[in-house]
Amino acid sequence: MKKITLLGSTGSIGTQTLEVLDYLNEYEVLALAAGKNVQLLAQQIEKYHPKRVSVQKEEDVKFIKSKFPNLEVFWGLDGLMEICSDTKNDIILVATSGKIGLKPTLRAIENKIDIALANKETLVMAGEIVMKKARENGVKILPVDSEHSAILQCLGDKNNDAYRLIITASGGPFLNKTREEMEKSNALEALKHPRWHMGRKITIDSATLMNKGLEVIEAHHLFNMDYDDIKVVIHPQSLVHSFVEFIDGSMLAQVGFPSMHIPIQYALTYPKRQKGIKTNGFSLFGQSMTFEKPDFKKFPCLQMAYDAGKKGGSAPIVLNAANEVAVNDFLMGKISFLDIEKTVEKALCEHNIVYNLSLDDIFEIDNEIRKKYSA
Ligand code: NDP
Repeated sequence: MKKITLLGSTGSIGTQTLEVLDYLNEYEVLALAAGKNVQLLAQQIEKYHPKRVSVQKEEDVKFIKSKFPNLEVFWGLDGLMEICSDTKNDIILVATSGKIGLKPTLRAIENKIDIALANKETLVMAGEIVMKKARENGVKILPVDSEHSAILQCLGDKNNDAYRLIITASGGPFLNKTREEMEKSNALEALKHPRWHMGRKITIDSATLMNKGLEVIEAHHLFNMDYDDIKVVIHPQSLVHSFVEFIDGSMLAQVGFPSMHIPIQYALTYPKRQKGIKTNGFSLFGQSMTFEKPDFKKFPCLQMAYDAGKKGGSAPIVLNAANEVAVNDFLMGKISFLDIEKTVEKALCEHNIVYNLSLDDIFEIDNEIRKKYSA
């Protein structure tokens, strides 16, 4: 059995990963990490018998210990770092949301453990540091995001022959809404994604198209492509998960039923393919596919992400941190939907970009922006 640790086991990606593991039946779960949903974590411990777990808060350690006295239970960032140091792992799947995944991912890389990466904020904040460390340690960073998995599947070992990456976007719940309608929308409406059932933060990012912008930055780091060679196309049916255009003019696309089980499984079986939960049975009859240019004026977060990515240095950190606090404030009803983009724009305008950042610099800037721009 191969050995795996799963960070964010109680979330949308985390629970789907456990379903994939059930199906594959070739992985032993060494450790699980969750945030606050300790009831679900307890059920997962019962089923998967990890040797170690980590929770977000110290007070939850007692609850887990009372149910599983022989289990090693850690908490907080130190807990995540500890379980990512276990070199018995073949792979660590990082599906925590937000910035908490970054340091544990780096720890795992230092320990030469391959990474299946769902947490896009890790590459947006510190893509250069993460990819450099991965190269130095001979570690694979395997994307779990469906678009990046699609690109990896199309590229195979032909990275040098790629001319452009074309990332598809469903357009989110507000694709056909006017800016006036968007301004009046509440969290419930913004959380109604037409295609994907995901965590709350990424669902709001899909409504502003910031999610696609973060994915462009993620693709730049994962596949070492210039921003000008990464395009976004609106494809509301979410059947094509992305394209690669090659230097000879050929384009390859990865097509399939919109389900995260497929990219999660590909990251876990890479470079092999195996029969999976969603294998076969998807019919193309009656399906239509359309492709449109994104409207950068209506969805300025996408443009801001491109610009921040191109500028580099601290710009993507500012983009990410301001966006995260603004999304949180919107979900709490403190600001309007369009205030999300205004917050990000203000943060970027007021920031003087700095370059050659250490990890400490990255967290310092991140904290400063969060403090300054939360409502
Ligand atoms: P969810 O909000 O559903 O899940 C987040 C997970 O992280 C939960 O298990 C949560 O625990 C845990 N968590 C949050 N904060 C902490 C913390 N401080 N310490 C430890 N654990 C923590 O998010 P998703 O699963 O939707 O997304 C996870 C990541 O994957 C994001 O970065 C997202 O951008 C990316 N992604 C998601 C996709 C999707 O389809 N959902 C697609 C592509 C990428 P708990 O719930 O117990 O509090």
